[in-house]
Amino acid sequence: MQQQLLIIYTGGTIGMVPSTEGYRPSAGINQLINSCLGEKQIAQLQPFHCLEFEHLIDSSNAQPEDWLQVAQCISQNYQKYAGFIILHGTDTMAYTAAALGHMLGENTKPIIITGSQIPMCQPRSDALSNLIDAASFARSDQVSQVCLYFGGKLLAANSATKVHSSQLCAFDSPNGQPLARADIALEFSALVPNSTLTKNKEQIDFLLKPLLKNSVAVLLLYPGISDAIIAATLLEQNTKAVVMLSFGAGNLADKNSFLMDALKKARSRGAVIVNMTQCYGGAVSQGTYAVGSTLNQLGVISAGSRTLEDVVTDLYINLDTYL
Ligand code: ASP
Repeated sequence: MQQQLLIIYTGGTIGMVPSTEGYRPSAGINQLINSCLGEKQIAQLQPFHCLEFEHLIDSSNAQPEDWLQVAQCISQNYQKYAGFIILHGTDTMAYTAAALGHMLGENTKPIIITGSQIPMCQPRSDALSNLIDAASFARSDQVSQVCLYFGGKLLAANSATKVHSSQLCAFDSPNGQPLARADIALEFSALVPNSTLTKNKEQIDFLLKPLLKNSVAVLLLYPGISDAIIAATLLEQNTKAVVMLSFGAGNLADKNSFLMDALKKARSRGAVIVNMTQCYGGAVSQGTYAVGSTLNQLGVISAGSRTLEDVVTDLYINLDTYL
């Protein structure tokens, strides 16, 4: 018997309709799926249930409490379904994917987040292929984690980022390979081999706790940055963690005494500072250059090759482990 899936609809382009102000979220995903899919495709997707959030959002409006709401929904329904598909807007999909990965942990039932660049109700929509492929991965024995599926690629939740605003292959892992591809067949490349899965998939003790809004800040360094911009992140007392987007291998203007002093002050009030490269690919190697070496003395943490989405959500959810 086919395994039952839960499709959780949070909003996003996939279910949007045109309006005079542009695309906006719209209710009724179950009817939409049923009206857009032919009989054969519906049979491929079944059995599934749809659960639709009361307040559907454009994912640009997503907040940390929305990540928590999705995680709670999965947690409450965890034992009833073989796998989960989260329908979500693409703009902040990689943040929600990473947050779910941090909240739900490793070795879960398949939890696949997806959406589309063109609404399901429009011609040439990529919604149905993303949905059907996501369903195949959500039923696969080889998947035991939170993943983002889009445009043919299955990406690990903590490695995905939105790389294009208009192409249908809108997501990638800048520093990693896709876990699998949906070509003529599903081609798995980097997933845990089936036989070695411990299948502790019945766990329900997820890390679900309210997240403190405004506790994480991102500071983009650029030539000519003002003291006011630096102060707004590093010297703001409520900020518990700052992700500093530095140059190249983790370098910064060490001759900017306001910046260096603000970093010291932030560290002495206990703020966590994570140094991340603003390059698209590659990693931080803090101290390779003299300009970046002070950061080691200040106890600034290197983000290595992690994505911004992964680090920001990790800091919201696991800040205590960084202190
Ligand atoms: N603005 C939309 C959203 O993130 C974009 C999309 O879904 O593709 O909800």
